[in-house]
Amino acid sequence: MAAGSIDLEVVQTVEGIREAVARARGSSAGLRVGFVPTMGALHAGHARLIERCREVADRVVVSIFVNPTQFGPTEDLAKYPRTLDRDLEVAQRAGASVVFTPTDEIIYPRGKAATFVEVPGISHVLEGAVRPTHFRGVATVVLALFEIVRPDLAVFGQKDFQQQLLIRRMVGDLHVPVEIVTEPTVREADGLAMSSRNRYLSPEERAAATVLHRALEAARAAVRGGEREAGRVRQILDRTISLERLASLDYAEVADADSLEPLVSIDASRRAVALVAARVGTTRLIDNALLAE
Ligand code: AMP
Repeated sequence: MAAGSIDLEVVQTVEGIREAVARARGSSAGLRVGFVPTMGALHAGHARLIERCREVADRVVVSIFVNPTQFGPTEDLAKYPRTLDRDLEVAQRAGASVVFTPTDEIIYPRGKAATFVEVPGISHVLEGAVRPTHFRGVATVVLALFEIVRPDLAVFGQKDFQQQLLIRRMVGDLHVPVEIVTEPTVREADGLAMSSRNRYLSPEERAAATVLHRALEAARAAVRGGEREAGRVRQILDRTISLERLASLDYAEVADADSLEPLVSIDASRRAVALVAARVGTTRLIDNALLAE
């Protein structure tokens, strides 16, 4: 491993990760352990989460687990990219000291339909309306991973805005002693949010995919310019995306950033977020931006 980098421990079992975390925490148990859950295929967005985690914690644990319960029956579970050797390099370079790579059987010892965590309200709108079992899969695996790793804090990306909100709600409601940190979305130079799914885009689709970011920037510009009607901001999102021939819109919403309740007007009393999902070719992309920051 590169000079100056931390040694990386790779473990697969529950006992193994518990021992590694205990060692990472140190004999006085005084060090803070941070956690970054991922599905692998790590890119610069994941690396940023790990770097941020290293800034706010003494040791960083990364998990790489392609969670079957968050994929719907027609989704791309088998096709999901798996690039473990490269992922270990990215994780180590960004500052991880332990990587947890469990199998399905380790995470789900009694099968995939045993116990579920549901977060009503957040689970069934927007992404949850299109992917009805997705968020219970996410909430369940994150709670299981929190119980296995027992971190002091965990870092999630704003890229998956609804997901970080779901985790915050679950942790609050169930008194889970893990601090949640949200890191801003890391983008390509032209604004496209980094995503493991971007690799499926053809060159032409890749160019068209910037439309999500362009739509969000147009919405932000309108709000900065004084627009306060959420309906008109939705129209701007909608219109910008429909002008892109290769894109088809799934949803464009302007919502309360703490509850995801759709807004009628944008004002200083609550934080507003614009969220979009669109298909570019056969690849489904999501993005979001806070309004009036
Ligand atoms: P994934 O493995 O893609 O499911 O994501 C693992 C974590 O990385 C989640 O907290 C995501 O929100 C976060 N993430 C993914 N893409 C980005 C990005 N472009 N910028 C910041 N965080 C991201």
